[in-house]
Amino acid sequence: MIIVMAPWATSVHIDDVVVHIRAMGFESRLVSGENRNLIAVEGGEHQLLEKSFEAWPGVERVIPVLQPFKLASREYKSNDTVVLVGADRPGLSPITIGGPELHIIAGPCAVENEKITLEIAQRVKAAGCRLLRGGAFKPRTSPYSFQGLGEGGLRVLEKVRAETGLFIVTEVLETSDIEIVSETADVLQVGTRNMSNFRLLQRLGTVKKPVLLKRGMNATIKEFLMAAEYILSNGNPNVILCERGIRTFETYTRFTVDINAIPAVKHLSHLPIIVDPSHGTGVWRLVEPVALAGIAAGADGLLIEVHSDPQHALSDGSQALKPERLPSLLKKVQAIGAVLGRTFSGT
Ligand code: PEP
Ligand code: MN
Repeated sequence: MIIVMAPWATSVHIDDVVVHIRAMGFESRLVSGENRNLIAVEGGEHQLLEKSFEAWPGVERVIPVLQPFKLASREYKSNDTVVLVGADRPGLSPITIGGPELHIIAGPCAVENEKITLEIAQRVKAAGCRLLRGGAFKPRTSPYSFQGLGEGGLRVLEKVRAETGLFIVTEVLETSDIEIVSETADVLQVGTRNMSNFRLLQRLGTVKKPVLLKRGMNATIKEFLMAAEYILSNGNPNVILCERGIRTFETYTRFTVDINAIPAVKHLSHLPIIVDPSHGTGVWRLVEPVALAGIAAGADGLLIEVHSDPQHALSDGSQALKPERLPSLLKKVQAIGAVLGRTFSGT
């Protein structure tokens, strides 16, 4: 259950409730929000217990939540969460993810150098996208592969934002990098390999920037939502989920996009979810059809790798779309989105 404290509740009121919860044998966590405090309690969903907490001084109401993910659940919050991106960038108009507007995050897998990143960004912008992706810190399977430009890559992304006005989505690999990556990023990406890095998720709960949380390649939907819960329960409500494919027995594709996850997450959670057909398939030819399937299934947007010279890309070239393929894909996104009452303002 979630105990919502009244805005006027004092720390004494909160402590009394927390002590009472512990005395009853349950674990709880205090979540400090902007206007009020919440106490998330694991277990104890029982009408009588909920009623007893409602009578406690300082308690506004008690919401029963049966799912193990409390703050991420629809039981807690029935209306869709809309994440605001870029509100702190003067001169750029912010965007929303999770509302009626669809958003496509596009760009290279890795920031390779300033020239090519800017070239790709300009094509991404011309196609009508508002967000550029590009990794400065790259989590590579092989230690011998290109690991990213690091802080130099962040400087490139800043320059490209200044030139194009595109918002930046870039990955943060470890807790010690959160501060520097947050200065550059408009959305902090957590990759599939870090979905279960609970220390990293906890720390990302304390930052103000939205977090794009990719599904672990071996994670169930429940584990995925529990990972989001780590961020939410540490105070950051701005989480965007990303279905990026899971490991199956199939070897023709790199991963298998779990289309089921999109309507399932929409049913279980109020958080926005986007689809990454690039990593999900690993094959550029499959990117467009799977992207469209994602939108048809109700995704709030897409993450697509784009490279102007895929043969020579330093990472993930085989799944990168050439920029000239973006406009026709986005036209189809617009058409399918329209059937579902979604808009895409590009193209
Ligand atoms: C990426 O977006 O480039 C990436 C490494 O993604 P994932 O974590 O999904 O493999
Ligand atoms: Mn990649």
